[in-house]
Amino acid sequence: MKKSMLFILLSIFAVFLLSACNEKSTSSNSDGKVQVVTTYSIVYDIVKNVGGDLVEIHSLAPIGSNPHEYDPLPLDVQKTTDADAVFYNGLNLEAGNAWFDNLMETAGKNGKDAPIFQMSKGVKEKYLTTKGKEGEEDPHAWLNIENGIIYAENARDGLIKVDPDHADTYKKNADEYITKLKELHEYAVEKFNKLPEEQRILVTSEGAFKYFSEAYGFKGEYIWEINQENQGTPDQITRIVDIIREEKIKGLFVETSIDARSMEAVSAETDTPIMGKVFTDSLAPPGEDGDSYISMMEWNINTILEGLSQ
Ligand SMILES: [Zn+2]
Repeated sequence: MKKSMLFILLSIFAVFLLSACNEKSTSSNSDGKVQVVTTYSIVYDIVKNVGGDLVEIHSLAPIGSNPHEYDPLPLDVQKTTDADAVFYNGLNLEAGNAWFDNLMETAGKNGKDAPIFQMSKGVKEKYLTTKGKEGEEDPHAWLNIENGIIYAENARDGLIKVDPDHADTYKKNADEYITKLKELHEYAVEKFNKLPEEQRILVTSEGAFKYFSEAYGFKGEYIWEINQENQGTPDQITRIVDIIREEKIKGLFVETSIDARSMEAVSAETDTPIMGKVFTDSLAPPGEDGDSYISMMEWNINTILEGLSQ
C-alpha cells in the first residue's frame, strides 16, 4: 500500500517535471503548434497554406510595407529566437541594411544547422542590370506563379524537416495548394496570349516584373530597378518618360507597397493614365482583394489585362 502510494506520487511528480520542461522548450500560447517566422506577407501566406492549423506564424515586414528594408521590433527578435522555423525569400530581398542577417544573428539562428529555409531555393535566378548592381539577384521570383509552386514545395520540405510527424499533412496541403497554383498559371498564360504582343509592356515604379515578364510574354519597364536608395531621381524619370513616348505606351501601373508620387509625376509628364494598382512586395490587408498570394496574382492578371486591353 505504502509502496504504491509512493509510486503514484513519484509518477505525478515526473509528469509535472516533464510538462514543466515542455513548457520551457516551446514558446508561450503555442498549443503544440510549430512556431514559424516569415519575413513578409507573401511568404506568410504560402507557408500558411502548406502548414494549415499545425503552424502558428509571426510575419515580420507588415502588410503594405516594403520587405527590402525593415527594422525588426523587440517582439520580432523574441519570436525569431523562439521560432522552430524561419522562412524567407532570399535572392537579395531581405538585404537592405543586412536586416535579415543581423536579425538571425541576434536571434541565434545563424548557425549552419539553424532551421531557416529559403523559399526561392531552386528558382532560376534573374539579375539586376542597373550599372553598379549587375550580378545582384532580382528577388521578385514569386511574380511568376511557376516559381510560387517552388516556394510551396520549399515550405513543405522545411515544415517536414522541423515537424516530421506531420509530413503526410504537409504533403497533402501542398499538393492541394499547388494544384490551385497550376490552374492560375495556366489561366494567366491563356489570357495574356490573347493580348497583342505590342500591348504587352508593363510600366511600374520598381522593376519587379522580370520573372513575371518572362513567364507571360511581357516587356517590363520601370522608374527604378529595385527598391533601395535613389528612387525616382530626375534621371530615372527622364529615362522612363522617353521610353513611354517611344513605345507609345497607353497605361501605367503603380504598386500597392510603393509611394505613388513618382508614377503620378511620370503620368502627368507623359499624359499617360495610371490604369490601376498591382501587388508586388506585399499582400492586401485581410478581407480585401489581394489578401492572399492567389488573390493578389489574380488581381494582377486581371488588372493588367484590363489596363492594357484598351
Ligand atoms: Zn520589391
